[in-house]
Amino acid sequence: MKKVAVIGAGTMGNGIAHIFAQNNFQVHLIDISQASIDKGMATIAKNLDRMVAKEKISAIDKTTTLENIATFNSIAHGIKDVDLVVEAATENLDLKLKIFKELSELSTANTILASNTSSISITQIAAVTDRPEKVIGMHFMNPVPIMRLVEIIRGYNTSDETTNSIMKLSKELGKTPTEVNDYPGFVANRILMPMINEAIETLYNGVAGVQEIDTVMKLGMAHPMGPLQLADFIGLDICLSILDVMHDGFKNPKYAPCPLLVNMVTAGKLGVKSGEGFYNYSETRKAEKISKQFS
Ligand code: NAD
Repeated sequence: MKKVAVIGAGTMGNGIAHIFAQNNFQVHLIDISQASIDKGMATIAKNLDRMVAKEKISAIDKTTTLENIATFNSIAHGIKDVDLVVEAATENLDLKLKIFKELSELSTANTILASNTSSISITQIAAVTDRPEKVIGMHFMNPVPIMRLVEIIRGYNTSDETTNSIMKLSKELGKTPTEVNDYPGFVANRILMPMINEAIETLYNGVAGVQEIDTVMKLGMAHPMGPLQLADFIGLDICLSILDVMHDGFKNPKYAPCPLLVNMVTAGKLGVKSGEGFYNYSETRKAEKISKQFS
């Protein structure tokens, strides 16, 4: 594989474009929003600058990486002749189905179609394409250039050939791919989200405060970040939507989102991105400090 299209230049898309480009792939970064593309490219340049400053890469590597990325505002223009598409657009079922239908119609028949979705069924996405055996989940973790895991999700019809080639490719990117089957939440979120939900439930029941709950998990379990802080970082709306997918998918009350989480999302308290969640970021600039822990 040499040419890759990445759909969506947001938080995940720009990180995915970055690692492919740094590993000498030709990357077509596609986003309907020019502002997202500009912001995404600026983020890639900033992250590369940091790597140059830390002497992890040379200034020439930075230039080559940026030159490996071409940007496009439409799927039709950006997916010509690519070997692989990694979709990292907004997490919305209807949008993903529309994008994969378009990909199926416009890309060449041997192009592998991957999605970075956190929670949407790969089998369902594959069903709207003409090649379900070539549709797979490539669930990168945030921030992509730093985190080593890629959860590789096999849809019901994903072939061994597709899985093997994506496992191999992920290793070429310096990542550790881990193969899992397509059930709600996959593995990462199936285990992480109930823990976050239980932390919120613990707060809701008045067992302890925000700082206390996070301190117990940070110092007691050696987690780099407490579950409430992590929920703020992920986005409370995202946590709620993943829990909803698992609750609907398994019909098991253990995945029911805590009423406090539902209330906070309804009130627009989404965590870092809205300036307030379990912590207040606007006054303390804590959001920046959290981001720095990961850079
Ligand atoms: P984001 O909101 O930062 O970026 C999404 C981008 O998609 C935006 O720039 C938007 O303009 C673009 N977009 C929307 N519709 C489009 C279309 N039709 N064509 C092209 N671009 C389009 O979102 P994100 O956090 O980067 O999440 C992207 C995907 O990655 C989601 O499926 C999400 O579940 C998954 N994911 C997110 C995280 C995370 O921590 N943020 C982690 C793992 C996986």
